[in-house]
Amino acid sequence: MKLKLLTICLFFLVSIPVFSQQFELSTIFSKIKYKDETDVKEFNKKIKSVYPLKGLDVILNYKYENSFNELCRKIDGLILRVEEILDMHPVAFKINIKIFSSKKDMEKYFLKEFGYRKKDLIAFYVPAKNTIYVRIDKINEHILAHEIAHAVINRNFLIKPSEKIQELLCHYVDINLKKTHPENVPY
Ligand SMILES: [Zn+2]
Repeated sequence: MKLKLLTICLFFLVSIPVFSQQFELSTIFSKIKYKDETDVKEFNKKIKSVYPLKGLDVILNYKYENSFNELCRKIDGLILRVEEILDMHPVAFKINIKIFSSKKDMEKYFLKEFGYRKKDLIAFYVPAKNTIYVRIDKINEHILAHEIAHAVINRNFLIKPSEKIQELLCHYVDINLKKTHPENVPY
């Protein structure tokens, strides 16, 4: 009887991840990973600017085939804008952006991956996973652009610049992003 109870408990423990399914939105330069559609809608509200795709969409005749066209368009525009500010254009750049629904979820993931706790994180980039992690309640386009800049810099150099140089370049992106007046390009 005790053994049976233990088996049932183990089943529940093992089966939890099966129910937390992850979905994916593919844009030209990113893959947005999420668990809850509400987070994607919120992400679209948080990323306000629409930067031009500079003819690339016309050349590739790219059509976003999902119900979140506006967000996909904004993310690709922001990535191109960051590349333009840095004057770095890594070939075949495609970054994963994973959305966390809450602070708790993000901190839990961080602890699991890195083995120590980090509090009050809003976003971070992990080069080995080619992924930017964002917390939906606190993210904004400047924080996202900062992390995109880290990703572009990391992909652009064979020998990576030091953390200090990277932070300087990311800060440069932030200053120039604030100066930019986005064009409201229809997508
Ligand atoms: Zn940074």
